Amino acid sequence: MIVYEMKLQGTKSQYRRLDEAIRTGRFVRNSIIKSWMDGQIKSRKDAYSYCKVLSDSPEFPWVSKLNSMARQAQAERAWASIERFYRNCRQKLPGKKGFPKFKKYQVRASVEYKTSGWKLSEDKRYLTFSDKFEAGTFKLWGSRNLHFYQLKQIKRVRVIRRHDGYYAQFVIDHTREEKKELTGKQTGLDVGLNYFYTDCSGTQIENPRFLRKDEGKIKKLQRRLSRTQKGSQNRKKARNRLGRAHLKVSRRRNDWVCKLAQHVIQSNDFVAIENLRIRNMLKNHKLAKSISDAAWYRFREWLEYFGRIYGVPVIAVEPAYTSVDCSNCGEQVVKTLSTRTHRCQHCGYVADRDKNAAINILKSALHKLSNTVGQTEINASGEIDLCLSGETSLSKSTRRKRKPKQ
Ligand SMILES: [Zn+2]
Repeated sequence: MIVYEMKLQGTKSQYRRLDEAIRTGRFVRNSIIKSWMDGQIKSRKDAYSYCKVLSDSPEFPWVSKLNSMARQAQAERAWASIERFYRNCRQKLPGKKGFPKFKKYQVRASVEYKTSGWKLSEDKRYLTFSDKFEAGTFKLWGSRNLHFYQLKQIKRVRVIRRHDGYYAQFVIDHTREEKKELTGKQTGLDVGLNYFYTDCSGTQIENPRFLRKDEGKIKKLQRRLSRTQKGSQNRKKARNRLGRAHLKVSRRRNDWVCKLAQHVIQSNDFVAIENLRIRNMLKNHKLAKSISDAAWYRFREWLEYFGRIYGVPVIAVEPAYTSVDCSNCGEQVVKTLSTRTHRCQHCGYVADRDKNAAINILKSALHKLSNTVGQTEINASGEIDLCLSGETSLSKSTRRKRKPKQ
């Protein structure tokens, strides 16, 4: 699947109709959550059929104006959030389980059409909405060209409202595959606050300066917003400015991490990363950290995306002990957060703290990979007749001498 996004150009009254469609979508979603809470909805199927109940009801005449597949898409979203809650409960995750909430009005909101309710013009430069909101025809603005794809490849069209306008996202069923020469290299990446990441060879990527700069601007705009009066016109303006500033940051960040991720994938045959939980990340309210966390999360998504395209495995490992263990001998070397250098008193290995962690991440990912591959093979053959006696002494002696990968 690839997603192309284009800006929608229309008149003010057309935008108001898109607002109506978005509001109706939210109404459908919230109604489903409500009847789930009341015990009327117990399955995904119930959620789907409840869409029909809503649209047939004379109480909510606006629901039937929304395209039927768009209503279903809302049911899917609602059910997905219910399912996520069930899953978190089953796994007994500590802390909040994410009980489904009603969505409030937000500027950033969307409604999703599937294969009906919209039409592209012959030259694919105009998009017309054909449901009963009658939003009409919009000109599409963007650098992407839909010409390469057939209509039936477009599986979904999302209308997204942002602080700076309305956008259409086209979700296209297309598997992208790129050729890549083998590089003979593999790497592990350790993320931190001092550097965006450090890899196995000790290469460090600085946090981009624009993130810090934008952060200052956002703080300023936030202060301005808090000084305005509730409900005033100035507050509305200030909120819009802040929203636009956030948009700008996230676009720049996305651009930067996308290029970086592509570069990492192109120059390695295997990439190991830490499995950082977004749940833990969001707990931290410090702006600087939250911005770099968001950048890292996006970076990981791009790594996995390009990994699939170029055929490079990207394996995430649990972050436990990656900075404590010695990557050379495996002994534990406890250090405080401020200790920047790893010095092993057991084998004498000295390296940058983050580089040591990056090597551990790579090793742990290779272990994880070999375990999953190995297990299926052993299970398939049903018996193990490997002779281990000669192997153990050999592996012990090489362990001490092994040098970290450069
Ligand atoms: Zn050591």
